[in-house]
This record gives sequence, structure tokens and C-alpha cells, in this order.
Amino acid sequence: MNGINSHYDCIIIGGGPAGTTAAALVAEAGYSTLLVERAKMPRYHIGESLMPETYWIFERLGVLDQMQASGYPKKVGVQFVNNTGKESSPFFFRTHDDRESSETWHVDRAEFDKMLFDNAAVKGATCCDNTRVLDVLAAGETANERVTGVLLQQAENASIEVVAKVVVDATGQQTLLANRFGLRCENSDLRKAAMWQYYRGAHRDTAGGGVKTVIMHAADKRSWFWFIPMSDDLVSVGVVGDRDYLLKGRGTPAEVFADELKKCSTLEGWLADAQPEDDLQIAREFSYTTTRSAGDGWVLVGDAWGFIDPVYSSGVYFALKSAELAAECIIDGLRIGDTSAATLGRWLPDFGRQIGLIRKLVDAFYSDHFRVGKFIQEHPEHQSELVDMLIGRVFNGCEGRIFEDLEPWLATKAEG
Ligand SMILES: Cc1cc2nc3c(=O)[nH]c(=O)nc-3n(C[C@H](O)[C@H](O)[C@H](O)COP(=O)(O)OP(=O)(O)OC[C@H]3O[C@@H](n4cnc5c(N)ncnc54)[C@H](O)[C@@H]3O)c2cc1C
Repeated sequence: MNGINSHYDCIIIGGGPAGTTAAALVAEAGYSTLLVERAKMPRYHIGESLMPETYWIFERLGVLDQMQASGYPKKVGVQFVNNTGKESSPFFFRTHDDRESSETWHVDRAEFDKMLFDNAAVKGATCCDNTRVLDVLAAGETANERVTGVLLQQAENASIEVVAKVVVDATGQQTLLANRFGLRCENSDLRKAAMWQYYRGAHRDTAGGGVKTVIMHAADKRSWFWFIPMSDDLVSVGVVGDRDYLLKGRGTPAEVFADELKKCSTLEGWLADAQPEDDLQIAREFSYTTTRSAGDGWVLVGDAWGFIDPVYSSGVYFALKSAELAAECIIDGLRIGDTSAATLGRWLPDFGRQIGLIRKLVDAFYSDHFRVGKFIQEHPEHQSELVDMLIGRVFNGCEGRIFEDLEPWLATKAEG
């Protein structure tokens, strides 16, 4: 089959941010690496707003200069608009920390993912798009089995087996390995759906020298919108709400989207002169965890590991970060000849704990009385940690002190 060998040190399934990062780092360390992506690259993907902490991984991957030259609008902060239409003061990242690394971008994911895919090839990985993994090679059906390779297929060709010491599942929401081993666990309290569309000609606020990701609640707080200004006057606008609320018995998705928009007067105003660019798109069942994330010869990264919620735009950063941490363990394992679950999964406990801080912030956001601006007015001492979390700084000693006051504050509001 097209340039594919029968054996590799590492096979990575999925050419999104997680898979391409893992492939670049493992290949750069000198190990034979195969990256396979079922779609033809570039391919569309939702998730345009990055977290600033991606900066350090871009630097390590050697793509920072490409990002800086990309022309993507700079994301300089985050803003919340509450259900009465009141806009919080923007949380400008550079007011908090005036380094270049405190800002990031709103990207076109097709281009961005393709850049990372090409970078993995530059670093020495064999990168094949249009190539689908049909299954992993394992002696049995449980997560205790060693995974020894993959069964893959290019276009209409016959499938072939390719063997590897390590198989990385970076298949995103497809969760190939978690499905195979029965490890996927839906987050029942985050059973959400999302609908989104791109517009041209919307309101554009460039205060602070760039654009902001804006999170806006609908009047009845049963849904919220994202507003993500992108290049070429495009803006990504999406609504998120409980799956049943958005999708059951309320007419077509376009009707539901229009109904929800009517409940968000600020956004209605911002879109008053805008034209929709294409059809509405829908996602559901996107919040889940995996009950086990590494085994002998295999490890999960990015959305294949789990996904919390889109509200804080953490998905791409966590995909990059999990892949970076997993790649370090894979490289160590290949060097010492130990690709056991213990070695490949060494990064997981810390990662899960620190990601748990964003999960808590997500839970706070969905609680009935979340008003971030008001909370920070009453507890200005937590502003710094909150902005750190919005930047993605949850892996450098962030302890989540904000929750010592935020959770009791939310409880008091609920009682009152
Ligand atoms: C509604 C919504 C809005 C979001 N908004 C944001 C946002 O603003 N900012 C943000 O950071 N994140 C956002 N996210 C999350 C973000 O999109 C993901 O977290 C991110 O794309 C995960 O990267 P990944 O590499 O793990 O997976 P993906 O980017 O999904 O890549 C997985 C790849 O694997 C390939 N694949 C799957 N199965 C196979 C197979 N069998 N063989 C070969 N290839 C395969 C797929 O084609 C895909 O290209 C959002 C998510 C949702 C649902």
C-alpha cells in the first residue's frame, strides 16, 4: 500500500491536533511513526477559538512562526454576556500578563489542522490521509489485551495489517479504541447539543487590538451562544443547550436556532446586518470520559481520551497538551523497551486532575446562578486565577483556589 511499511514503532490514528502533535514529537525523537487520517486533508472541523497556552506547544512543534505569519485574528480576551444582556468587562489576557504568549488566535480549523499534519511529515512521520483504520489488532476484546497494530484501508484497496509497538488513538469523537474496549462513558449531566453557522458582516469589536471569544446566555438561560470572529469577516456563531431541549419536538434545527437567537438580544443586534454563509451544523453527545485511557501498547489522546464542553474553548489545547504528555511517555517507553500501560499512561493522573479544574468551571457555568462578572466584583482576589484558567494555565501549579469561594457563592445565590 502507498508508502506504508509493515512495522512501525508508533502508529497514530487520527490527523487532528492531538494525532499530529503526537506524530511530530515521536517522529522527531527518531522513532518510525505512521500517522493515518481517514479524511482527505484539509478537512473541515469545528473548534476555532484557541487557548493562549497552545503557544508553548506551537513553539515546541516548530510552528509558532507559521501561526504568527498566518493572518488569523488575534484572540486577546474572553467576554461574557449574561441573560439580561449585560456585558462583563472583557477579560483581556495581556492586562493580566503582558507577554506575547498570553494571546492566541481564532483559526480556520481546516487550514490549521493541515498545517499540523504537514508539520508531522516534516518531522519525519509517514503521514497518510484518505486512510481509515478499521480496527486495532488485539488478542481479545478487553482493555487488558496488548494492542499490537492496526487494520487499515486506503480508498477501495484491500485492508492490510500494520504492526506497531505503540498505537495512539487520536480519533477524536469517534473514540475508536474506547468503543472497541467499552471504555466510553457519557457525562450524563452534560448531555448537550450544539448548532452552529458562519456569518459574514457581523458586528466586529477590535478593542484591545484583536478579537474576543464572547459567551452569551439566552434570556431564559436554557442555552448559550458562542461568538468567534475569524478571518475574512467570518464569524462562527453556535448555540449550546441540553440535547432534549434543543432537539426534541421543536421544529427544524433552523427554527430552533432562530428561536434561541430571539432570546439573545445582544447577539441579534450583532448579527442584524450579517448574512449566513452556509447551512446550520449540529453536534450531540460530545461530553464523555473514558474509564481507562492507556493499556499495554496503547494510549488515548485528545477527544479520544474525553471531552468536557465547548464553553471555555479548551478542546484543542487539551488535545495538544495530552498528545505532548503522551508523546514523552511513548518516547521514554520506546527508548527503554517498555510500552506497558504503566509507562504509556504515566501522564494521566496529573492530567486528569488538572483538567478537573476546567470541569469544575464548566459545572459552575451551567449552575443556575453563574454570573462571572458579579462574582469577580465581589471576589476580585480570584480574577487572576480565573484569567489564568481562561488562558489554559492549569498545568503550572494552578490549585483552583477560586472554587473555595465560587462554590459557596453559587450555593448562597441558589438559597437566596
Ligand atoms: C460544538 C463544539 C464546539 C467546539 N469549539 C471549540 C473551540 O472553540 N475551541 C476549542 O479548542 N475546541 C473546541 N471544540 C473541541 C475541539 O473541536 C476538539 O476538542 C478538538 O478538535 C480535538 O482534537 P483531536 O485531535 O482530539 O480530534 P479531532 O480534531 O476530531 O481529530 C480526529 C481525527 O481522527 C480522524 N479519524 C476518526 N476515526 C478515524 C479512523 N478510524 N481512521 C483514521 N482517522 C480517523 C478524524 O477524521 C479526525 O480528523 C468544540 C467541540 C464542539 C463539539
